[in-house]
Amino acid sequence: MQAIESAGHGGKIKRKEKVEAILARLRLLRGQVSELRKKCEALKLQTPNQADLICSECGKLIESGQEVALKNSLGRIKAYYHRDCFMEIWRSQVWVFDYSQPGFLRFAEDDA
Ligand SMILES: [Zn+2]
Repeated sequence: MQAIESAGHGGKIKRKEKVEAILARLRLLRGQVSELRKKCEALKLQTPNQADLICSECGKLIESGQEVALKNSLGRIKAYYHRDCFMEIWRSQVWVFDYSQPGFLRFAEDDA
């Protein structure tokens, strides 16, 4: 307390500058917080409620209802894809139809 009093007039001005600097910093932080909050809300919108499915082609989250499940020859789900990503693979791959298995579609390369 005594130290502040003895600082005199010059000290008061310095303190005022300090307060203004702190206020400016607070305003900046507040802006950053609201920016972060916006980003969080955007992320929340992207996150599906169900267990997160990751596309095996592009590595991004798949929104619910947009997934395509690829099964192996035992009928177990091998991978998930976006519909669009799956269509790209579909066009670029040679497929074999294996009607003896429940998951009857396979990549031709698995046939070896
Ligand atoms: Zn994808």
